[in-house]
Amino acid sequence: MRVSGFVTLPWSGRVECQPCGSAMVTPAAPRTLRRLRACRPGEEQSDEDGERKAHPRTYGQAAARSPIAYNSAVSAQRLAELITASQPCVVLTGAGVSTESGIPDFRSPTGIWAQYDPMEYATIDAFRRDPAKVWDFYSKRLDVLKDAEPNAAHLALAELERRGLVEAVVTQNVDRLHELAGSRAVIEVHGSIRTSSCLACGHREPFERVVELLPVPACDRCGAVLKPDVVMFGEPMPEAEFERASALVRGARLLLVVGSSLEVYPVAGLPEEALASGAKLAIVNRSPTPYDGRADLRIDAPAGVTLAAVAEATWPPV
Ligand SMILES: [Zn+2]
Repeated sequence: MRVSGFVTLPWSGRVECQPCGSAMVTPAAPRTLRRLRACRPGEEQSDEDGERKAHPRTYGQAAARSPIAYNSAVSAQRLAELITASQPCVVLTGAGVSTESGIPDFRSPTGIWAQYDPMEYATIDAFRRDPAKVWDFYSKRLDVLKDAEPNAAHLALAELERRGLVEAVVTQNVDRLHELAGSRAVIEVHGSIRTSSCLACGHREPFERVVELLPVPACDRCGAVLKPDVVMFGEPMPEAEFERASALVRGARLLLVVGSSLEVYPVAGLPEEALASGAKLAIVNRSPTPYDGRADLRIDAPAGVTLAAVAEATWPPV
């Protein structure tokens, strides 16, 4: 296995190729992944101006330029080895996998719940009480989600699936970005913004139509207010999806958690199921989780650069 030398500058989201010093800011997603792949020591590489230059053969100079940067490639190499050796691998993703696509998470100090009280905007009771207020909140979220693109983390997971190294992605996210990145086995345990449904007659509308119907989308058939097909607090999980997720996790040899602080049950119970079935646990997250002490590998680094490095380290296909 081979690892490219990139450094991440965590305070800025900048990613540098250590050999050539070319830098990009996550999320520059598809291009980032292509360029990270394109960087090879000793080879030529086009820079931003299209000027071609050779990589220096040593990594030392670039590292010395960024004395407080850390090298996530070592952790990525270990994760790549763990994934390769522990098949099947199932991935569990949370909001942290999408923050590099410009989608705010929920629980960090700058997250959605720092601005909005979930009891007022995210419970099924709040929706029944005042659907217009909840839709006002959702219309702002849809506005961000409609333009969001998959980042390097989504693309790397899709690539790992294509190579047979990821069996499925279980996601708490409702943003469709795994699907847009090309992942095929995606289990959306908290639903999706892909559709909204009428609670009165069951009529369902696609995302694009719902956006047209804002600010308060009404059912074309009966006039009742539509509800986004995401799981609100107080609603049951979609049973079939959760059973499938649970079965996948129990059958896995490795559960890779990416961008979830594992605080919301029942999803937060999936690592417990994996461990009880003898699987290994790896966690890539920017904040502590209750499972850190039981994980075989814990990486505190951005999901995009980490998973792009893992995809790189597992090349060529095994
Ligand atoms: Zn209806």
